[in-house]
Amino acid sequence: MSPSPAPSANSAATADRAARAWAVLESVPDPEIPVVSIRDLGILRDIAVADDAALEVVITPTYSGCPAMSQIAEDIGLALDAAGLGPWRIRTTLSPAWTTDWISEAGRERLRAYGIAPPGQCSQAPAAARPMRFVPRAARAGAPDLVPCPRCGSHHTQEISRFASTACKALYRCLDCREPFDYFKPY
Ligand SMILES: [Zn+2]
Repeated sequence: MSPSPAPSANSAATADRAARAWAVLESVPDPEIPVVSIRDLGILRDIAVADDAALEVVITPTYSGCPAMSQIAEDIGLALDAAGLGPWRIRTTLSPAWTTDWISEAGRERLRAYGIAPPGQCSQAPAAARPMRFVPRAARAGAPDLVPCPRCGSHHTQEISRFASTACKALYRCLDCREPFDYFKPY
């Protein structure tokens, strides 16, 4: 790989190793939605070199019990080993809890291009402080403020099923272009 740094360049080498790990892990796809990376989704929280020289990777699961997490941890390990960035360890943190607000703009664009409507922004307030919103039945029929079609952009869409291919998504249908699509539910 890169030439060995001088002993005095220890902190620079540490920063370089963390930066290379970010770059490597940027390309690790989400197992359930491979068009977006774990970094795009905000699952990858932090990378630091610990006192024992292990690379510590911090991840936060999207949904509690999301079955993809062990796959994600395995993929991270494989990627770091392949890049010669070990030793490493993975720490899972549940706090602060992941929300769909953590999905990057690039990630939202990729979801849309893939045909999945990206989640709307949740409130910036912590989950516990988030107000419940009740939508009148009449307004819900067209739900103009909710989920635009990722293909034609029409707001004339309808929820078909609360759960699509994964629990994280709902199945919608566009009433204009007639295409069904997945909606990544805000959370
Ligand atoms: Zn459409």
